[in-house]
Amino acid sequence: MNPYNICTWKDTSECNNCPINGELICHFHRKYLYSFIGLFFIFAITSFVGVILAGYGWFLLGWIGFWLFFFEFWEISILCSHCPYYAEEGRTLHCIANYSSLKIWKYHPEPMNLSEKIQLMIGFIILVGYPVVLLILGNQFILLIVVIIEIIVFFCFLIIKRCGSCLNFSCPLNHVKKEVIDSFLKKNPVMRETWEDKGYKILE
Ligand code: SF4
Ligand code: SF4
Repeated sequence: MNPYNICTWKDTSECNNCPINGELICHFHRKYLYSFIGLFFIFAITSFVGVILAGYGWFLLGWIGFWLFFFEFWEISILCSHCPYYAEEGRTLHCIANYSSLKIWKYHPEPMNLSEKIQLMIGFIILVGYPVVLLILGNQFILLIVVIIEIIVFFCFLIIKRCGSCLNFSCPLNHVKKEVIDSFLKKNPVMRETWEDKGYKILE
């Protein structure tokens, strides 16, 4: 059930005396998942309509193919495999965003490296840029503006409401306070060891 002994996957009774209880999204809850999926699909549906009106409907198959590649293979390798949610035993991910993705990679308790961070940003740009380019080529400028606003709202929501309390501390968008990260690492020796091996300093 919890091969790396990560506190996220322990009984919640252990959280009662935790000094950072309430600071992080430590446990799965449907409301986080639904808000993530809802905002992403508002952007996706507007993009679908716009791209079809632009006359590039068949190109949507390429976009859906990229989703599958990105969410199921690429992103889950460079980002999610470093996340405490990924450390649960089992073949599928139970987390607040990529729920039910297959865990084809092994868990990496160490922080993301620079190459993975750059790849993640490239992946995000392709993910949102694909329909934007087609809307421009198809002169769908009103829907283009709507889609751009939806992209901004989606990322602002993530950065303001999620990334300040997300457990994947080495993600380039993460801005959890250092003292909170340090407390979490002290509770999770498997992560702590690999983070310190990579040069991270915990303030005692
Ligand atoms: S950091 Fe760990 S122990 Fe503390 S509240 Fe979160 S899951 Fe519970
Ligand atoms: S990084 Fe985000 S999407 Fe990936 S496992 Fe962690 S919470 Fe889920």
